[in-house]
Amino acid sequence: MSTWRLAVAISLVLGAAPSGGFAEVPTLEALTATARRAGLRVLSGDHLVLVTDRPARADDGVEELPAVFDAAWTEWCRHYGLDAADHRDWRAFGCLIVERERFRAAGLLPDDLPDFANGFCAGRRIWLHDQSNAAYRRHLLLHEGVHAFTITLLSLDTPPWYTEGVAEYLATHRLQPAATTGSSASSIADRFMPTPLPARPADVEQLGRIERLRQLRRTAACPGLDEILTAPAADHRDLSAYAANWAAVTFLARHPAYAEAFRAAERGPLDRRFNARLAAAPGWNAAEVARDFDAFTDEIDYGFDFARARIDWSPGLPLDASHTVDVPAGAGWTNTGCRLRAGARYAFTASGRCLLEVLPSDATTGREEIRVETEPAGLSLRWYRGRPLGRLLVAQWVEKPADGGRPRFVLIAEGRAGEFQAAVDGVAYCRLNEPPGELADSQGRLTVALAPQP
Ligand SMILES: [Zn+2]
Repeated sequence: MSTWRLAVAISLVLGAAPSGGFAEVPTLEALTATARRAGLRVLSGDHLVLVTDRPARADDGVEELPAVFDAAWTEWCRHYGLDAADHRDWRAFGCLIVERERFRAAGLLPDDLPDFANGFCAGRRIWLHDQSNAAYRRHLLLHEGVHAFTITLLSLDTPPWYTEGVAEYLATHRLQPAATTGSSASSIADRFMPTPLPARPADVEQLGRIERLRQLRRTAACPGLDEILTAPAADHRDLSAYAANWAAVTFLARHPAYAEAFRAAERGPLDRRFNARLAAAPGWNAAEVARDFDAFTDEIDYGFDFARARIDWSPGLPLDASHTVDVPAGAGWTNTGCRLRAGARYAFTASGRCLLEVLPSDATTGREEIRVETEPAGLSLRWYRGRPLGRLLVAQWVEKPADGGRPRFVLIAEGRAGEFQAAVDGVAYCRLNEPPGELADSQGRLTVALAPQP
């Protein structure tokens, strides 16, 4: 999953200069002819010629890789605001490798390529080791394809987090099963769906980035945004670094407070000053961005809903007397406006009823529609993150949690009613316990009364 800066530099120079000097960069036609002479299979699409020593096998998905690449290529043009028609002749040359030696003998795997674990890109050339999982094979091809696209069409030379993060972001996709889209709409282009932030685990077989980030948070090893943005190029076997880079790009591209600035930076030169240009965006506050990123990795999950989970960080007013607030279902942490004093004791009571989801009726079983409702204690039949779904949670943002790790929301109370001690000087936040990807279909609100205790 690495790029090869030296090779890229050489190939760009050679591409613009008369031949001679270094070994010539072969044309796509010459590479294809070489592959045919070596007895490799040649699969062609509009934007990719893929050659492989993998034997033809029914339903292994290899034949459709060029069409998948073309569908993704259209999305990449859209992402960067390029007119696809202006680049209709752009093509990458890829080697899908089972036996390295065969490609080396054919002259398609230069000796001076660095050792790569999965995939590699230099200019418009892509190499990838064959994978046992079809979804991961597609992902890897597209990841290297994004490198080829951004390097050759946009002269990308950004800090490593963006180079790798955007390759992960733009490679993540789902290929809908042909049967579900009907006979008239089962082309690859119709079945291809970008899922930069996957809605469910089945969308991204074998990627495991969300699980990796959760594990990093649990073990207090998750990097903050500043660390990610300034990290040197990671070892290409470092899956944590790839997960973190993907998280940074996803967060900046999707969070409503930063998406516009990020899009503007992506349309500017994709050079080494990328971070500086981002930081110079109007209203950019590095400390706030870093805190929002910590809040994201703290609760990262499939289908994370950045708009609904957006957090109001206003400092609130001291809670000197009883105060009542509405806590909407279908939202992330709600700022109660009540500022607590570290160590002081408070009481809370919650009431109300919310709709968490509607399970549709099922004609085959005769089941009628089910409205799943909750009260402050939550539903005992389904749990999320160790607590009943829909349960009222009260927390504070703690910059230095006692158990170590990144800043995060620390739970101080939950359920119907009780007393608690404030963890820090700061606002109390409330929410219903619900996966951040399931907020959209929730309705209603709980009413929470907070009061200082003598
Ligand atoms: Zn890469």
